[in-house]
Amino acid sequence: MFSVMIEQNIKKLFEEIPQTNPFGEKITVVAAVKFQTPEDINRAINAGITDIGDNHVQEFRDKFELISGNPRRHFIGRLQTNKIKYLLGKCDLYQSVDRLPLAEKLSQMSADKDVISNILIEINIGGELSKGGFPPQEAKEAYEKIKSLPHLKVRGFMTMLPLDASEEQSICLAKQMREIYDTVRAYDSDCTCLSMGMSGDWKICVDAGSNMIRLGTSIFGERVHKN
Ligand SMILES: *Cc1c(COP(=O)(O)O)cnc(C)c1O
Repeated sequence: MFSVMIEQNIKKLFEEIPQTNPFGEKITVVAAVKFQTPEDINRAINAGITDIGDNHVQEFRDKFELISGNPRRHFIGRLQTNKIKYLLGKCDLYQSVDRLPLAEKLSQMSADKDVISNILIEINIGGELSKGGFPPQEAKEAYEKIKSLPHLKVRGFMTMLPLDASEEQSICLAKQMREIYDTVRAYDSDCTCLSMGMSGDWKICVDAGSNMIRLGTSIFGERVHKN
């Protein structure tokens, strides 16, 4: 796909994506910008994208100064604790906090730098070996532990549905995620984000109650791995 499509893709997506999910919550679109050039990311921002998410610390750093329009910056990839230092104070939402030691380290380093870090707890809803995240049955316990750490604010949950799931399975898993989110949201007003849905499954996820979707391919076209 030619990059000339970016503006058209975004226009089309904004027409397709409903203003709110069935729970009446506004839907935030996060552009998943891995492997995209700063030029293309800036075009997406000019076309109305307000939030961008990187998977790799290196890319987050290299592109940071080259991106205009002051978007909210998310980190959506696997984060090694020794790389937290490059994101501290620059990342608006750490979406992929997938293990307790990462949360502890992020809390400690945020304290040292005197910042509050906003995070989502990643849940491995499909129980896939290839993915990080807490098992759904440990979501509540993970939340309680991470919530107690200073200098972190738990804003909700993030997940990736299995790519090979049937539509039926995906709907079922997406609804389970919404239940986890609702359980916590019932008594924690900081918990406002359920980040679930990518280019191939965002409709299912929004119907099930996602309020944050992370789109790469449907904005930028098929990814070209540049190296
Ligand atoms: C790449 C990526 C996306 C976007 O995937 P697409 O299928 O291209 O929309 C969303 N979330 C995460 C965590 C990703 O790594």
